[in-house]
Amino acid sequence: MADLRFSRRASLGLLASAALIRPARAAARLSYDLRPQAVAKGVWMIEGSTEYFTMENGGAIVNCALLQGDTGLIVVDTGSSLRYGEALKSVADGLDLRGVSTVINTHHHPDHFFGNQVFADRPILALGETILQADAQADALADNMYRILGDWMRGTDPVIPRNVISGGDVVIDGRAFLALPLSGHTEGDLALLDRESGILIAGDLVFYDRAATTPSADLPVWHAALDTLEGTGAAAVLPGHGPIDRSGAAIPQTRAYLRWLEDTLRTAAGQGLDMIEVMDLPLPPEFAGLGAEPEEFHRSIAHLYPSIEREVMPRAN
Ligand SMILES: [Zn+2]
Repeated sequence: MADLRFSRRASLGLLASAALIRPARAAARLSYDLRPQAVAKGVWMIEGSTEYFTMENGGAIVNCALLQGDTGLIVVDTGSSLRYGEALKSVADGLDLRGVSTVINTHHHPDHFFGNQVFADRPILALGETILQADAQADALADNMYRILGDWMRGTDPVIPRNVISGGDVVIDGRAFLALPLSGHTEGDLALLDRESGILIAGDLVFYDRAATTPSADLPVWHAALDTLEGTGAAAVLPGHGPIDRSGAAIPQTRAYLRWLEDTLRTAAGQGLDMIEVMDLPLPPEFAGLGAEPEEFHRSIAHLYPSIEREVMPRAN
């Protein structure tokens, strides 16, 4: 398996060599334009597109946070590729605060940690459960990302976090956080409340004006996590995808979307609809305009509908 993967990536390398004879315009297209947005004193975010991964966006769909520490910047989540990690490092270097001191990954989805490769000589922190999931799934996740994003992924080899962060009050490079070890979006979802700014870095437990993704979701557990996040009384929420939320709308929106999604699938299963028929259902106006819809709804049907059908449909004895 590993050899196959190596040879496939090596052949991508050959394609890359062939690309040298293409016009320079084609090569220029493969560059990320990441801009740091100051969201509080000593805190910046890089806001991703609210689309799904496409060749046009190069997988730059995730939010990353940069926070000023004593010896450099603490970076939370690193994007979907080696190339993205390099662009993120350039942004950090440009802030002129001695570069990146520490990396934290909120969870094991590839858009949140495949840029780690650039920071492999720095401490990379994550929940223990996230490390287990990344170890188990990194190869399959990488194969999928190469399939979707092709040349954008060139040279990317997942670097798994190796430093365990646990919950409670923690100080990272001199900066105080409340670390919340949660789950529901995946088996391990880390949220961080930055004590100084009051900003809650929520990872993918919160999506704002962008449909939630559910490939690893446990919906009841996710709802409990949202309650915990709301209980922090954060001044603002920096979601995994979508703009920063200073109005308190992002957590209720995520909760309402997940409720609607589950109710819709349960009702459909009760009516005996098959998957194709469920995909034809219209989205209500409040969710139809979310980023990545209706594609994300369709993916969620594929992730969640089989088990909901088994639960809801009467058993044939
Ligand atoms: Zn995710």
